[in-house]
Amino acid sequence: MEPQRSPLSEVKGNVELKKPLVKAPTRLPLSQRRLKRRPDQMEDTLEPQKKRIRGLSTVTKIAPSRPVTSALNTVPQTQGQTTAPKVTKKTGPRCSTTITTAATAPVLGVKRPSKRPAWDLKGQLVDLNAELRCYHEKTQTLDQENQQLREQLKETQQQATALGSKHRTLEEELTRLRVQTEHGQQELGNLKAHVLELEEQLGLKEGLVQELQKEQLELQEERRRLATRLEDQERRLQASEAALSCSQVEVASLRQETAAQAALLTERGERLHGLEMERRRLHNQLQELKGNIRVFCRVRPVLPGEPTPLSGFLQFPSGPNGPSNPPTRLSLSWSDERRSTLSGAPAPTTRHDFSFDRVFPPGSRQEEVFEEISMLVQSALDGYPVCIFAYGQTGSGKTFTMEGGLEGDPQTEGLIPRALRHLFSVAQEMSVQGWTYNFVASYVEIYNETVRDLLATRTRKGQGGECEIRRAGPGSKELTVTNARYVPVSCEKEVEALLHLAHQNRAVARTAHNERSSRSHSVFQLQIYGEHTGRGLQCMAPLSLVDLAGSERLDPGLALGQEEQKRLRETQAINSSLSTLGLVIMALSNKESHVPYRNSKLTYLLQNSLGGSAKMLMFVNISPLEENFSESLNSLRFASKVNQCVIGTAQANRK
Ligand code: ADP
Ligand code: MG
Repeated sequence: MEPQRSPLSEVKGNVELKKPLVKAPTRLPLSQRRLKRRPDQMEDTLEPQKKRIRGLSTVTKIAPSRPVTSALNTVPQTQGQTTAPKVTKKTGPRCSTTITTAATAPVLGVKRPSKRPAWDLKGQLVDLNAELRCYHEKTQTLDQENQQLREQLKETQQQATALGSKHRTLEEELTRLRVQTEHGQQELGNLKAHVLELEEQLGLKEGLVQELQKEQLELQEERRRLATRLEDQERRLQASEAALSCSQVEVASLRQETAAQAALLTERGERLHGLEMERRRLHNQLQELKGNIRVFCRVRPVLPGEPTPLSGFLQFPSGPNGPSNPPTRLSLSWSDERRSTLSGAPAPTTRHDFSFDRVFPPGSRQEEVFEEISMLVQSALDGYPVCIFAYGQTGSGKTFTMEGGLEGDPQTEGLIPRALRHLFSVAQEMSVQGWTYNFVASYVEIYNETVRDLLATRTRKGQGGECEIRRAGPGSKELTVTNARYVPVSCEKEVEALLHLAHQNRAVARTAHNERSSRSHSVFQLQIYGEHTGRGLQCMAPLSLVDLAGSERLDPGLALGQEEQKRLRETQAINSSLSTLGLVIMALSNKESHVPYRNSKLTYLLQNSLGGSAKMLMFVNISPLEENFSESLNSLRFASKVNQCVIGTAQANRK
């Protein structure tokens, strides 16, 4: 059995397959029936013709002028226009034939006697009655058929109505479907666009994927390489671990050894420290035995262009220990020619003998001189204040002794650079024992009882103000010069730079008439700070190196001009400060309760470098010239007095 199909699907199917709708006989009974209807059954539809035929005697006259199918073309439109021509084609000739046959049927169905003679009216009448009956039957049949056709028409109309509504439904459906299709197409368009977009993205992703694949390949390669390296490293690690375990055993034994050595080292350190302390004590004892105040006499050589003194003017007799030992004596012989002239007899020679801790004859080198004082420098590092003076008349070689000759000539380097170099090197050595040293340098000159900073730089000059000697703080023993530079130094170069600066500053102050440097005291001071953090030891001491002003006296016979008066004041100031220095040394030597430090700026500034715990060395510089005999004698007398002084046992300035 054929499944029930929806009308829409049927229509669609027909449209698609282009099937003629006439092939659905159940749906279109009318057309079928009509097509099969005999011409005699078409009376109703051919009413006008029939009426005409009734009036006719010949059957040929009832043949329709046009095919019956043209009337049948009025079948419901739902059959589709495509069916009409087919029907016409197929049924056209057949109908025509049928109609012809039908028209003649009654004639054929009635046993018509051969043509009656005209006179046989009765026979004709019988024939006509028979024909009439036949027509009558036919009419009845046609009526029935007509009735049937009417019913069929009605049915068809109903069907047509149903089909019409169905058609509308289908149209609506179609419209809906169209809308749907439109939507679908729109959606399709959107989807296509989306697809394009997705395809584009896909393209990108594919590119990315390719890149990633490439990268993956590279990474895989890298991984392989790393794996190889890792294997290699692992092998090495294993080897190292083996070596390490060996080393650990070795380290353990070394540790034991180190611990033993550390213990030994500590013990030795203790011993070393004990020895260092002992060395300091013995060193100090030695210095004390040599004297806390020592006086060295140095005679400068005769300079080119100077008159050679008479032989015997200056003599250096051997000491009690014989000529092989360093000289300690000096004799100054002098014959007064004026006295000999007066008496006529040869003038007696006056000989002045002096004895000092050491005498340096003219040929002595700077190096030899320094050797003698290097021990004192060590004392400064050990915490004893040390003060070294150069005393003598102008031109006797004080500056040469303290600072040196020509700048940059290592042979003629003076005590100051040598002492500092020595300090730096000894401090370096002592750092091994745990000592740390710091040095701060200052350099001032005292002229006419005023203090001036020799380390003033150009930028500071004029702004520095007056230099005054003050205590570093309330209750502090340390002295400081206000407005003066205190420069930390740690190497020779820095010291050289400072000495050069001081030299320049002195040159600026020099005038044509007055060699100021010889009329002022130059005081180079180095504060030494030592610390042994391990043992909590500290020491602090000043090392002062003083180039004193020329000790010559002013000739009282000179006319007192303005310049001379100034010179007189200078000289008085110098003499006063030098005699104060002598008095201070005496007072210290005699352990007097009052030491007149305050009587001069020089002694006031140097008070911490003199006194009980200090070690003092005085160079008395002598000119070899006969013309300077008087001044030389004065200097030697002053130095002798100092040499007789003994300052109480020096004590290290330790905490
Ligand atoms: P002062 O400072 O006492 O006035 P200086 O040190 O200026 O004397 O010396 C005067 C001159 O004598 C300088 O030209 C100096 O170079 C020279 N002089 C001093 N002592 C020596 C010495 N020991 N050897 C060589 N030259 C010397
Ligand atoms: Mg000088």
